[in-house]
This record gives sequence, C-alpha cells and structure tokens, in this order.
Amino acid sequence: MNKKTIRDVNVQGRKVLVRVDFNVPLKDGRVVDDTRIRAAMPTLQYLLDHGAAVILMSHLGRPKGSPDPKYSLRPVAEHLAQLLGQAVRFAPEPVGPQAEAMARDLRPGDVLLLENTRFHPGETKNDPEFARQLAALAGPEGLFVNDAFGTAHRAHASVVGVAQYLPAVAGFLMEKELTFLGRLLSQPDRPFIAILGGAKISDKIGVIRSLLVRADRVLIGGGMANTFLKAQGKEVGDSLVEDDAVPEARALLDAGEGKLFLPVDVVIADRFAVDAAKRVVSVDEVSPGWRILDIGPRTVARFREICREARTVFWNGPMGVFEFPPFAEGTFAIARALAELERAVTIVGGGDSVAAVRQANVADKITHISTGGGASLEFVEGKPLPGVEVLEDR
Ligand code: ADP
Ligand code: MG
Repeated sequence: MNKKTIRDVNVQGRKVLVRVDFNVPLKDGRVVDDTRIRAAMPTLQYLLDHGAAVILMSHLGRPKGSPDPKYSLRPVAEHLAQLLGQAVRFAPEPVGPQAEAMARDLRPGDVLLLENTRFHPGETKNDPEFARQLAALAGPEGLFVNDAFGTAHRAHASVVGVAQYLPAVAGFLMEKELTFLGRLLSQPDRPFIAILGGAKISDKIGVIRSLLVRADRVLIGGGMANTFLKAQGKEVGDSLVEDDAVPEARALLDAGEGKLFLPVDVVIADRFAVDAAKRVVSVDEVSPGWRILDIGPRTVARFREICREARTVFWNGPMGVFEFPPFAEGTFAIARALAELERAVTIVGGGDSVAAVRQANVADKITHISTGGGASLEFVEGKPLPGVEVLEDR
C-alpha cells in the first residue's frame, strides 16, 4: 500500500475530518445492522487515543440533495455513542452556522457527526464550495481521513473535493481494503482463482476481462453463466439471459480459452419462485420453459477441486438465486469451499456475495470481506478510484 495512513501523520491536537461509511439500514429510528459503524471503530479509536478531535461525515441512502428526515444520521450518532462509550455530538446540517459553531467548540477527544452529506446538493456534484465549507470545519491545522472505501469510486465532495483543501490520508479500513485488493492486482500468490457470478454479465464485463488477464482460472456461475451457455449455442430455456451481451460472451470465451470454466450442471426450475418444481440437469439438458436458478452439484465439486490448489481466491457474485433457499445450495457450497482453504488468501467482494457468505456462517473463515460493492469491482477492474487517488502517497 503506497498511500499515507493516519499512522504516518501527527494527529495530536488536530481536528480530523473523517469520511466514514455510515450508510446503514435504519428501522423506526434505530440502526438495524451496525457492521459498517463497527468497521470504522479502529480508526476512530486511534484518532481519539492520539489526541485528535474527530468530525465524521457520511451519506445515508439517496436523498435528493435536500434534507429528508427519513435519511437523517441522528440515530447513528446515538448508536455510535454507545459503541464508543462517550458523547457524540450531532450537527443537524452537514455545513452551515450550526455545524461551524459545533466544530469550533471541539476539544481533543471529542466526536462530532455531521448530518447526511447528501442533504446538500453539492455533495454528489463534487461542488468545490461545499467541499471548502466541509474542509473549513477542521480549521487551519485540519486533516482529512478517508475510511469509506465503499464510496471511493464516487467523485463526491466529501470523498474527493475536501482533499483540495486538506492534507488527505487513509484510515485503517481503507488501508486494509487497499492492501488485500491491491494484492490481487500486483503479484497475487498463485494459483490465483477468480469466481464470478451474480445476475448479469453487463454489470461486470470490465471485471471479467481484467480477471481473465490476471487470474490463472476464472470460474463462472450465477445468472451471468447463462449468457455464456447461450453463446456456446446451448438451450437455456427461460433463464435470465442478456441477448445483447451474447457477442461479448463469445469474445470472452475465445479470450479465456482454457482458463474460463462454466457450469457443467445446473438446477433448473419451472418458474421463478421459491416453491417452483426443480430438477438437476446437465447444461445440455435444459428444457424449454424451464430456467437455470443455481449451479449443480457436479459443478460445485469441480469448482471446489480447482480451488483446492489455489493460493489466492477472489469471489464476486452468487452462484444462483440464493434468496430462494431451494436454490441457495450452490452459492453456500462455494462459500464453504472457500472457508475450507487453509493455505489461500480468500477475498469476497460484492453486496450480495458478502450477504451470502454471512448466511452460510463462514464469514470468519474468509481472509478479507470487502466492504465495498461497486468500489471493489472497479478496483479489481484496475480502474483508479477517485477517493483513493486524492490520498497522499508515501
Ligand atoms: P454482488 O452484489 O455480489 O455483486 P450481483 O448483484 O451481481 O452480486 O448479483 C446478485 C443477484 O444475482 C442475486 O440477487 C441473485 O438472485 C442473482 N442471480 C444469481 N444467479 C441467478 C440466476 N441463475 N438467475 C437469476 N438471477 C440470478
Ligand atoms: Mg448486488
């Protein structure tokens, strides 16, 4: 990792503006899942222990550039106060006179959370004036810390713009992501196996192309496999298929000759429903009117066998419609297969893939679970992430 982190700078006595990802699910004014808040704790604790005052900023949901009580971060301030065991002040606006007064009052060890940055129209536009106002809250000795890897692919004011006005370094969560995901791009331990699934090829063409170059083998499952099977001229019935992407799939099959592995058997259903009739068939036996909703047991065995040799495994995208328990087995079996690997670095990225790993109860056996969905994919694709680019180099 070639970016400076909070360990590389002096934070004592400074006001530190920290971009966190507190985009958590709320229900009835309470935080339902605090995984993301907990993920920021090492950085916050470090800053507080080292004599900084902390000003936190985050977005939550997709308000339309103006205040919307549904997306207020106030419940997060309360939750964070419990986790930290200290008071967390809350500014009811991201910038403006109240936020300024509250920021001015901060003493070392104090914590202030700003209201949802997306309550201001300047956030998603990366408006320089909004960014300047945010940065000014940290004062002349201020520091910007980005610990929100999940939004690093967005050139927003609280992610990118503020770095125009303050020295910018990575927090620990950001550092961890860049270290693990970075190793996929530069000198992964080999064999390096990539497993890709999920709904569509079109969402992930860049990632597939990148991994076909970088990985030793690419295993494909999930809905995206259907378009590859169709490109091979197979009957896929009523499966989810992207007809527009068939030529692209054909090109990828050629480019990935010998490296790209598709399912050999699948679980098909007579309807898209949790209680559909189901059958396990070879990929050459999909009946018209039926649809592929999971990979089959022979495919699982084959993928597991290939992974056994791996030193690095990156997985993105469920192998089937795992939201329906009868069609979750392929996805859960791959999750367990990764969990069994003792010599390999295993990395899982993607919102649904991470949810699947948790449901399979093996999250603690995975080396790194990425907190970024879109950001992880763009990173693995080799695209520069704006929120990482602005951080100071070592
Ligand atoms: P991630 O969030 O991990 O990147 P995606 O969002 O790309 O993953 O894909 C997840 C979705 O793909 C899930 O909702 C799942 O139901 C769907 N999916 C997987 N396999 C199939 C399939 N065979 N047919 C239809 N949908 C599928
Ligand atoms: Mg998803």
